Amino acid sequence: MTYDVIIVGAGPGGIFSAYELTQKNPDLHIAVFEAGHALDKRKCPINGDTVKTCVGCQSCSIMSGFGGAGAFSDGKYNITNDFGGTLYEYIGKQQALELMRYVDDINMRYGGKGTKLYSTAGTSLKKVCVQHDLHLLDASVRHLGTDINYVVLANLYEELKHRVTFFFDTPVQTIDVAADGYEIVCSKGTYTCKTCIVSVGRSGSKWMEQLCEKLHIPTRSNRVDIGVRVELPAEVFAHLTDELYESKIVYRTKEYGDKVRTFCMNPKGAVVNENTNGIITVNGHSYEDPAKQTENTNFALLVAKHFSEPFKDSNGYGESIARLSNMLGGGVIVQRFGDLIRGRRSTQSRIDEAFITPTLKATPGDLSLVLPKRLLDGIIEMIYALDKVAPGTANDDTLLYGVEVKFYNMEVDVDAHLESCLKGLYVIGDGSGITHSLSHASASGVYVARNILKTT
Ligand SMILES: Cc1cc2nc3c(=O)[nH]c(=O)nc-3n(C[C@H](O)[C@H](O)[C@H](O)COP(=O)(O)OP(=O)(O)OC[C@H]3O[C@@H](n4cnc5c(N)ncnc54)[C@H](O)[C@@H]3O)c2cc1C
Repeated sequence: MTYDVIIVGAGPGGIFSAYELTQKNPDLHIAVFEAGHALDKRKCPINGDTVKTCVGCQSCSIMSGFGGAGAFSDGKYNITNDFGGTLYEYIGKQQALELMRYVDDINMRYGGKGTKLYSTAGTSLKKVCVQHDLHLLDASVRHLGTDINYVVLANLYEELKHRVTFFFDTPVQTIDVAADGYEIVCSKGTYTCKTCIVSVGRSGSKWMEQLCEKLHIPTRSNRVDIGVRVELPAEVFAHLTDELYESKIVYRTKEYGDKVRTFCMNPKGAVVNENTNGIITVNGHSYEDPAKQTENTNFALLVAKHFSEPFKDSNGYGESIARLSNMLGGGVIVQRFGDLIRGRRSTQSRIDEAFITPTLKATPGDLSLVLPKRLLDGIIEMIYALDKVAPGTANDDTLLYGVEVKFYNMEVDVDAHLESCLKGLYVIGDGSGITHSLSHASASGVYVARNILKTT
């Protein structure tokens, strides 16, 4: 039960650290502990028919299991330092980009070949945006799509399963410092290792907080992003999505000077529920396969809030807003933009009469009863700004689903090797609060693996 390296969490961070370690040193004894199921056992019971809402599975198949939170995602690997995390602050911009490209190469070798790499380089849309005070961020984005993303994960598992011992459905209860490394405590037993990589993602945020407290690893509070998911006919954004696939656009509101940004754009995609610690929020994804595409495009509009003194719990603030929407709507609320600006709730008949068919069954309601005025004003202002570069965005029938909340883990204090104050205990991926995306989390996995290889 003794390993050279134990990895906690089989999301992209854990997978890519295991991949790099096994490729470069096949003699290492490596184990991966994962709270969720193996990839082929991951299935959310919501089918929209007999099961319409979250039934609170012990392990949420959307967030947990081999592939982590990204397994059923749109599989957008953004190669950029402009968003998706602050890994570059630890390892430098050049190296961060190189690692993201390295991850992209691996994804291509394991089933992603043929998928499209979009880029903002040289686009005239940047000028069009800036003429309307909208700022298009630079990025290359590989869109695997939910279907191909799954294929890549399945192939990576086939590669890893002969070289790594996987423990699925095995949440790590705690980690203790041992004489020559660490003890990994699970209900099935205790395992020891010289080096431990903790990569528990968003779903492991509370666990991570407790671990840091217990092991006296310093942490800092992080921000929370709150907003809505916008859904509109795909034609409205087609000139942007055809060229860039995803455009990250930032706008500073005139009224409060807050930054509002587009996030997670899904051309011809679907809006979906997301369950974070029992709270239902909204998200979106899309398929590479044209047969599975819809007639709508969706994206989030988010405003960042960061509390520090005397109130530090940014995530708690976001959770309270999401809980309020769950209380009023029994889950996600949907409202037509026209209803919102006229100060009236949407009803099922108004939604049914609209010239757009919602891709998510949500409760028609009034988002102004949920979102704080400052945030909602900013979102409305941004919708009018976007309407100038994508006319139709501010149409009455544009659908707003709420709330969308992007929670970030508190930032764990790690050094330039992503090693905590405890030697041999590394914290990577979204669980570290440093990354918030597939590409950054994966890159952080490769990076620590290379550092560990230097010392073993
Ligand atoms: C619906 C959805 C769509 C998304 N779409 C995109 C996208 O298109 N592009 C993008 O860049 N990002 C996207 N993201 C975000 C992306 O999935 C994450 O940034 C990424 O998965 C982070 O990787 P990670 O390895 O750090 O953590 P995770 O992927 O969260 O993996 C952590 C793993 O650790 C396990 N774990 C937690 N606690 C324990 C414990 N105590 N013991 C054992 N195991 C534990 C969890 O079960 C989980 O499987 C999306 C997220 C969601 C939810």
